[in-house]
Amino acid sequence: QDDEVSKAQTAQKLNQQPTIFSKIVDKKIPADIIFEDNQCVVFRDVNPQGPVHFLVVPRKPIPGLSDVQDGDELLLGHLLIVAKKMAEKEKLLDGYRLVINNGRHGAQSVHHLHIHVIGGRQMNWPPG
Ligand code: ADP
Repeated sequence: QDDEVSKAQTAQKLNQQPTIFSKIVDKKIPADIIFEDNQCVVFRDVNPQGPVHFLVVPRKPIPGLSDVQDGDELLLGHLLIVAKKMAEKEKLLDGYRLVINNGRHGAQSVHHLHIHVIGGRQMNWPPG
């Protein structure tokens, strides 16, 4: 039954599509896109939390990390590789921070999976 509840929650979230990120992925609204391939789009965050802040977004409209399936393994790995390569391209040579906000407690506001990559300044821990 838990499985059914989680499926229903996923379906409900999927019904919220298209999100603003789906619209960016589909080029229906503009964004500062710095990279794209057949699996993902990378664009600058409109409200940057550091000198460099971009988002790695899969084309597949997965609502959040809690909705990923075993079959998404290659896609998730790809997103991390793209994040790392783009961090190099953005010259974040002294390091950077990756964040995936998930659900309410994670303060996720856009329900289309995305990886934040933030850098260009010293990060602190713990996060707020
Ligand atoms: P939070 O808003 O708490 O950071 P998320 O992890 O869901 O939650 O992050 C959504 C991010 O998307 C925010 O950093 C926000 O600034 C960014 N954002 C929202 N709309 C756009 C847009 N149209 N183009 C680029 N970035 C956007």
